[in-house]
Amino acid sequence: MNPHLHVFYGGTFDPVHDGHLAVARNARDALAASVHLMPAADPPHKGPTQADAMQRASMLELAVAGEHGLVVDIRELRREGPSYTIDTLHDIRAELGDDIPIALLLGADSFRGLPSWKSWRELFQHAHFVVAERAGHHVENLLPQELEVSVAHRWTASANELQQTAAGRIFKLEQPLRPESASAIRHRIANGEPWREGVPPPVAEFIIQSGLYIKPAVTPASL
Ligand code: ATP
Repeated sequence: MNPHLHVFYGGTFDPVHDGHLAVARNARDALAASVHLMPAADPPHKGPTQADAMQRASMLELAVAGEHGLVVDIRELRREGPSYTIDTLHDIRAELGDDIPIALLLGADSFRGLPSWKSWRELFQHAHFVVAERAGHHVENLLPQELEVSVAHRWTASANELQQTAAGRIFKLEQPLRPESASAIRHRIANGEPWREGVPPPVAEFIIQSGLYIKPAVTPASL
């Protein structure tokens, strides 16, 4: 069997927006890979989500319906506790074995924060990284030194290389920058500003029907 690259795209997707979809489609096409969009249960690096896990997964299903090569993977919602990527990769490796190429897809802003992830250096043993440029966060901008040192020898411009080895390379995904962000969309909805343009129409319908994001989340600090 010719091993086939599987790309895993994690995030809170609160809500999924056109920027996420553009990145996922681009990775699918540039790398000839299937892209698995993977909503996080309890993000260790962010505050609580506004939409609950099932709502975020439902919005993702609506967003990828009818798209070839894009699928939703809810494995992190089935686990108790925070969604640490290292645990997810162990889970994926247990399922796919050690030889299938796997890549984690993430925005340049998330990539820069890698040293705060649990067991981050170990991640390179299990997966490649595909880094998408994000407005205001160019990959070339200075990386934290410990990250720079760890990744210096891992960069590749060859999509083929990601297919030929199981893990350990880093690939920059070239694409037009996308301005969308989930927090900006939530902010616009809460403030009664126009927002529908940034999300796929079935997702916009879901948001309206379920009344999501109309009021900012009430956090203990704001009570
Ligand atoms: P927030 O605005 O609340 O930070 P977000 O839009 O970044 O949310 P996430 O679900 O946290 O949404 O993002 C998942 C992944 O997608 C992250 O790795 C993030 O960097 C990346 N990403 C999100 N939006 C874009 C975008 N417009 N361009 C490139 N990457 C993006």
